Amino acid sequence: MDSTDALVLVAPRELTARELPLPAIGADDGLLRVEACGLCGTDHEEFTGELFGGFPFIPGHESVGIVERIGARAAARWGVQEGDRVAVEVFLSCGSCDACRAGAHQRCERHGLADMYGYVSVDRAPALWGGYARHQYLAPDSVLHRVPAALDPVTATVFNPLGAGIRWGVTLPGTKTGDVVAVLGPGVRGLSACAAAKQAGAGFVMVTGHGERDHPRLEVASQFGADLAVDVSATDPVRALREATGGLADVVVDVTAKAPDAFPQSIRLARPGGTVVVAGTRGGRPVPDFNPDIVVYKELRVIGALGVDAEAYRAALDLLAARRYPFESLARRVAGFGTMDALLRDMAGEGEPPPVHAVFAPH
Ligand SMILES: [Zn+2]
Ligand SMILES: [Zn+2]
Repeated sequence: MDSTDALVLVAPRELTARELPLPAIGADDGLLRVEACGLCGTDHEEFTGELFGGFPFIPGHESVGIVERIGARAAARWGVQEGDRVAVEVFLSCGSCDACRAGAHQRCERHGLADMYGYVSVDRAPALWGGYARHQYLAPDSVLHRVPAALDPVTATVFNPLGAGIRWGVTLPGTKTGDVVAVLGPGVRGLSACAAAKQAGAGFVMVTGHGERDHPRLEVASQFGADLAVDVSATDPVRALREATGGLADVVVDVTAKAPDAFPQSIRLARPGGTVVVAGTRGGRPVPDFNPDIVVYKELRVIGALGVDAEAYRAALDLLAARRYPFESLARRVAGFGTMDALLRDMAGEGEPPPVHAVFAPH
């Protein structure tokens, strides 16, 4: 076998199947046989063109698969062998810049956002830079995590949102035992943040959603650690939180997408001296009616969160393997080469209601 199949996004909404040559692997790199690749908001924004880079590329940046080929030095560096199931981080790490040494390779000075997986031109050799494919290239500066044997590859793709939930819901805000935590947004990242906060000992976890579409997500939230699920289109979340806990939140995590009202709501939900984590991007939209004085009066700590670190990814894989929360049975859609178009359109809100968790699998 010297070629493989991939889906190339040649232009917005033009996902084309292509046969591409498999690269020769040297001492420092490797090749992944993709088993599953998780999808997030970035995927459908790339598909619709909101995030299109102007070049053809293979999307997919939350890959899980089997190490099919690996060079000797790469095997030693990554601590994995051919045949191991691994999860691949989206960002590369040079390992030597200040950001990488601090474990924050999403800000790597050599790589950063410029060559994250799932967003590199197919014209750059060896083309296989994304997870919508049977094979993904493992560049020398890749960061891999071994997947615990108890996990199937599709469930293992939750390493990405759950890693985010752990970093955004616990590590960054410093969530501690007994804290009241409010999570805005009941998608897979929001549910993951609930589970992570509960796992870290939070005393009370509230999650919010908006409208009918979010009801199925709010309904399962209790299985993921939420004590209260609120539809903000019907109920004022500040009042609901006060009624349930007698106060406001120590930690607020905003993982909403396309909800400009959420940020002012986060600020209102936080107690004086509390922490607000603003995580993930929201399509470049400004926030209307935001009064920064409230941040001052309450002396809030507002933290931006871009990605996940290696520590959180490892903790996520361990928490998944422990099966304390039913991530394997999330409402999920797994699409193959022929059905990705429809799935991405649904995720973009243009068709059927989107699944809570969406995954590509190369079949
Ligand atoms: Zn993603
Ligand atoms: Zn670096």
